[in-house]
Amino acid sequence: MNALAELRKRAGTSAIPAIQGRQRVAESQESQESQGMEVEKYFSRPAVSASLAPLADTLKPLRAHLLALAAAEGMDVDHVHRLHGLDVAACIGLDDVQLAAYLSLLADTADRHAGRVPAGDTAAIHCEGCGPVWIHPNIAAVLPVVDGWPRALGCPWCFVRKAGDYIPRPPARAGV
Ligand SMILES: [Zn+2]
Repeated sequence: MNALAELRKRAGTSAIPAIQGRQRVAESQESQESQGMEVEKYFSRPAVSASLAPLADTLKPLRAHLLALAAAEGMDVDHVHRLHGLDVAACIGLDDVQLAAYLSLLADTADRHAGRVPAGDTAAIHCEGCGPVWIHPNIAAVLPVVDGWPRALGCPWCFVRKAGDYIPRPPARAGV
């Protein structure tokens, strides 16, 4: 098991809801970027940048720390370079275990965008929107099982499906 996987395990479930919230922020940020002009109407970037200005002294070293953590874990540091200032600001106050879990989720999101199943996502579930998909066994374990499949109304691949991108599939089962 690599260090990051170990960190994730030790971080346990307590860190996960907060981290998932942050991942949603990261994902919505990506979708905002893709929506371009539409977002500009509601959310002026210069105004956001100005509101972050007082935090610049905090965000710069925090981003540098995230970069160092990512490099230490052998991760693609571009995930950190691409983070919006608001996403970095959301990391204020997190400890290294939580930051590593956040970085790991960023890498998982990038994997899914690229059509790759994140390492460790070895459980097959049936998402209401996506159909059969691979997710982490810890998530599959808490889902209700119907007709032999753990079932969910949504999953980490939903945003990939909505973007029209490729989803690698677990083998189909009879009766699903
Ligand atoms: Zn889904």
